[in-house]
Amino acid sequence: CGIVGYIGNKQAQSFLIDGLTKLEYRGYDSSGIAVFDGDKINLEKCVGRLDALKDKIKGHEPKGSIGIGHTRWATHGGPSDLNAHPHMDCKGDFAIVHNGIIENYMSLKEDLIEKGHKFLSETDTEVVVHLLEDLYDGDFEGAVREVLKRIEGSYSLLFMSRRDPDKLICTKKDNPLVIGLGDGENFIASDIPAIIGYTRRNYIINDGEMAVVKKDSIWITNHEGIPVTKKVFEVNWNA
Ligand code: GLU
Repeated sequence: CGIVGYIGNKQAQSFLIDGLTKLEYRGYDSSGIAVFDGDKINLEKCVGRLDALKDKIKGHEPKGSIGIGHTRWATHGGPSDLNAHPHMDCKGDFAIVHNGIIENYMSLKEDLIEKGHKFLSETDTEVVVHLLEDLYDGDFEGAVREVLKRIEGSYSLLFMSRRDPDKLICTKKDNPLVIGLGDGENFIASDIPAIIGYTRRNYIINDGEMAVVKKDSIWITNHEGIPVTKKVFEVNWNA
């Protein structure tokens, strides 16, 4: 299983598919990508090998220079097109990908259903994006911080917002996450092999850290919003 993200000036889709291919060795049962086209977030996902996703988008690859992608190893809800990530909220404002397990998803889901949220999948992950929609009041980072206060479990999480199309937000707990530093573009992945063909300079994200990734800047804080200074990790081996 793996997660990838791209923000820059190129077509996001090309890095997303390539990055996911490099993470195939981790095993997965379905895959998907979401790309923002300047107006809406376009979602493509399906059960099966990455080749199935590549076939599905062939000739009409989603266009846009900000996007996220995922290979899923199902833990909650069997492998299916609907359970594949990314997951989106009811309004189409947010898309997220997640590796790990949200332990308290049941009680969160019950509350959100009571508030009128409609769930499309059987995953634990989907609560995170509905919760984000529920807590969002114009401050993307603030809403993500509130989400993180409410979820329990393990995660690499990557968030995209149609309302804030200049940034991706990522965070992790007990799951890996790296950010590859490009020139006018940045890359996010759950593991270095996805990024190594694009840049050798990385930030390794630790538990409790959250990164706001723009195409020409990266801002890392702890969950309370206090800035964290990071050293660049230079990769000197080949994938
Ligand atoms: N628990 C999530 C799901 O079943 C994520 C699984 C993963 O790590 O790929 O959809």
